[in-house]
This record gives sequence, structure tokens and C-alpha cells, in this order.
Amino acid sequence: MRSIERNALSLLALFAVLALFAGGCGKAEERQRQAQSKTEPRAESKHAGWWCDEHGIPEEECSMCSPKLEKECKAKGDWCEKHNRALSQCFTCNPERQKFYAAKYRAKYGKEPPPVGE
Ligand SMILES: [Zn+2]
Ligand SMILES: [Zn+2]
Repeated sequence: MRSIERNALSLLALFAVLALFAGGCGKAEERQRQAQSKTEPRAESKHAGWWCDEHGIPEEECSMCSPKLEKECKAKGDWCEKHNRALSQCFTCNPERQKFYAAKYRAKYGKEPPPVGE
């Protein structure tokens, strides 16, 4: 008998907490959900697509997104310690490499790649 009463009490407490959430935080939650649904597809396309928007390099060649490539580039000595990426993909140290990758994008899509966001 005792334990049933306790269960009922904890259920009541749970409802109280839920009601508090629904009332107090409902709006904030809704806003957060809207913000998320806005950012989620972008986050997906960032690494699911062919092009790495963030780094201006095809995703499968992006040493900043692939730990495997990072290791390979480091093993080859193709690494920029200062900017923590493959030297052949460091647009700060090798601006012409950005043109090289941009040309790949143009060849595929027939337009300029999106600006690299850092
Ligand atoms: Zn990347
Ligand atoms: Zn660099």
C-alpha cells in the first residue's frame, strides 16, 4: 500500500514538472526548435555533400574534415602546422590552391564556389 502511495506522489511531482516546462519554457523551446530546424539542413549538407562549404575543398579531399586524410597528409609531409591543415589546402599560405579547388567546383557546377567561411 505504501509504495503505491509513493508512486502516486512521484507521478504528481512529474506532472508538476511537466506543467512547469510546458508553461514556463514552452516559448523558449519552440524558438530553439525553429532555430535548429533552420541550421540542421545546412549542417547536414556541409558534410554529406560533395563540396566542403567551410573549407572550399571537395569533401573527400578535405584534410580538415577527414582525420584519415589528415594523417595521410601529415605522413607525406604535406602539412601546415601554423594553420592546422594540409599545406596543399592552406589557402593562407598557398592562395593559388584556392583557385585550384575553385576550378574543380566550376568544372562540376559551372559556377563559382561559395565563399570560404572561416
Ligand atoms: Zn572541410
Ligand atoms: Zn598555412
